[in-house]
Amino acid sequence: MRVHLSPDKCIACTTCVVQCPVAEATTKFLGPRMIGPAYERFRLLGLTEDSSLQYCANCKNCDISCPQGVPVSSLNMLARAEQCARLGHSFRDWILAHGELMATWLRHIPAPLKNFGMLNPLTRTALDALGIHRQAPLPAFAPHTFRESLRRMTQPGHSRKILFFPGCYIDVYNPQTGLDMVWALNSAGYDVIVPDELVCCGLPMVANGFWNHAHANAERNLQVLARWRNAGLPCITACPSCALMFRSDLPEYFPDLIKKYGMSPLNDAQEFLLDAFEDTLSASTTDQPVNVCHLVYHAPCHLRAQGNGLPGLDLLRRLPGVYVDYADAGCCGISGSYGFKKEKYDIAQTVGSRLFARVRESGATAAVSECGTCRVQIRHGTGLTTLHPVNVLRKFLDTGC
Ligand code: SF4
Ligand code: SF4
Repeated sequence: MRVHLSPDKCIACTTCVVQCPVAEATTKFLGPRMIGPAYERFRLLGLTEDSSLQYCANCKNCDISCPQGVPVSSLNMLARAEQCARLGHSFRDWILAHGELMATWLRHIPAPLKNFGMLNPLTRTALDALGIHRQAPLPAFAPHTFRESLRRMTQPGHSRKILFFPGCYIDVYNPQTGLDMVWALNSAGYDVIVPDELVCCGLPMVANGFWNHAHANAERNLQVLARWRNAGLPCITACPSCALMFRSDLPEYFPDLIKKYGMSPLNDAQEFLLDAFEDTLSASTTDQPVNVCHLVYHAPCHLRAQGNGLPGLDLLRRLPGVYVDYADAGCCGISGSYGFKKEKYDIAQTVGSRLFARVRESGATAAVSECGTCRVQIRHGTGLTTLHPVNVLRKFLDTGC
């Protein structure tokens, strides 16, 4: 099962330790250098793993900062998968790893009933007993999934097509962002294709130690994407974590699949829109803005880890009448489902506290970020409305902010 990633380039400089938000927030985690490359040497000798491995949030700040290019977070995720295979998984972690499957099972139940069933105090007490913190900001189900809404839509019939990978969060909890993306792509001259066969990118499975399940999802997705890639379609996603999974994680985790199907990197949807709307936006910047809309932007760790800049922020800053502060306050703490877990909720809130303060101090009327769970965490920590950049783009181009 295990691919071998070498810890040998580590020079023990401890830069990653300084940048690790979890190591800063708690003494329960031994930190990236110890748990990553240092312990990997013991693991290669078959010696016992440290249990604090479970506290790595897979946020990738260690990878971003390491001057030697050591794949610290991947070493941790591989080791966690082995630890879980040896010791077993909790039911809580199974639920959090398989959100897409759970949503499919529950799809015939009306959303208000599902939300009442999931979010009422009695259920929250039961979930708390299972290990999901009673205050964790669990998102509510949308009345219809993005895919259901898209099937009902009539697109303009452009000859140019584009493949959009929605990711689970947009599909199940935030379809409006997917619909705004379809609107933007239609406006830019593309019809949008979302193949039914595409499934969860597998990141929640990796983070919770379900390695074989992540492999199965990756195989299915890469097979489908290879078909569209070979047909010459651009493929994009609006979710930074899905993009990171396809761009950098899958080649490290599953080189067998990359060998079989080739790379299928998903391009950043915000970068695509920045190019697509270049003419429209540069024309509109000559007009004097009437209203000034004050926003604050948070860059998700999984976006920064890709090293492609901040196209979502660039896009927002091209909108006249929109003033955007860049929060630049590190990790929000949630890391997918990490901050939902009972033993990690307080750590996640501590990690996010710097960002929450920066967002509040900004005086902005809404916070913007590409990542769905970052938005959930910011809303939970600040009470502010949160948006995806494409929500702002649509609002601006349709009506002005
Ligand atoms: S992935 Fe994040 S939490 Fe895990 S070791 Fe790296 S910086 Fe720390
Ligand atoms: S993993 Fe990288 S950043 Fe961390 S101690 Fe080793 S060389 Fe330094």
